Amino acid sequence: MPFPIRQPDIEQAARLIDEADCLVIAAGAGMGIDSGLPDFRGQHGFWRAYPALGRHGLDFTSIASPRAFRRDPRLAWGFYGHRLALYRTTAPHAGFALLRDWARELPRGCVVFTSNVDGQFQRAGFDDGDITECHGSLHFLQCLAPCCEAIWPATDFIPDVDEEHCLLRGEPPACPRCGGCARPNVLMFGDADWIDDRAQAQARRLEARLRLSSRPVVVEIGAGQAVPTVRHFSQQLAFDRRAPVIRINPREPEVPGLPQAVGLPLNALEALRAIDAAREGRADG
Ligand SMILES: [Zn+2]
Repeated sequence: MPFPIRQPDIEQAARLIDEADCLVIAAGAGMGIDSGLPDFRGQHGFWRAYPALGRHGLDFTSIASPRAFRRDPRLAWGFYGHRLALYRTTAPHAGFALLRDWARELPRGCVVFTSNVDGQFQRAGFDDGDITECHGSLHFLQCLAPCCEAIWPATDFIPDVDEEHCLLRGEPPACPRCGGCARPNVLMFGDADWIDDRAQAQARRLEARLRLSSRPVVVEIGAGQAVPTVRHFSQQLAFDRRAPVIRINPREPEVPGLPQAVGLPLNALEALRAIDAAREGRADG
């Protein structure tokens, strides 16, 4: 184990949450792993999950691009349709419910800032109004062209995917305005066309909520340095608002330079359970 787990760190995390008025949950791909969701880390892991894409020599950054949708919409929708179906049927792990329990005890509740496009916080019962999806959501669509700024729910689209070939059977979803191909309303690689109105509105709501909080605590979960958006968000709160940061990350738990922070080298669920047990212990004592 490269990083020892120290019980005093768990105790400190529990204390920081007890002292806060608002739980700020900052979540990256590592949050979904305990629910059984893939995090697309590493090319070989990616191709094990999507062998047909391996045969095409397409890595994550190649298939997750507007170019892939223009070149072969049924292949790109094979990948995204499979993920959409997976996210619709996956039950969020028990750590989500622990976070909701903690938030209920705090006067300002919680806000969620996540780079995940899986909609798992909504599925776990978090209020949609508390959530900012900084890279968009796979549960929403937009025009591929795009011919307009419209963003609409993907609810009516039930993807039927030939998993062996990673191909969408039937027609891709269509833009209601121009009739052309629709794509997920998520930020992809090499993506100048992502329509971010929804994410921007969420971010404005988040700002307003954070202004109401005088003692926010950041619980950052499974957010690595490879896609640093979530880490930037935590660090900004740490420096601008002097918010303490609890960083949960089995591989990159270090907290260099953060004024008040604790790093827990654990997966999401085991860390949340350990903190919850420490909080229970404090409440009883
Ligand atoms: Zn269109």
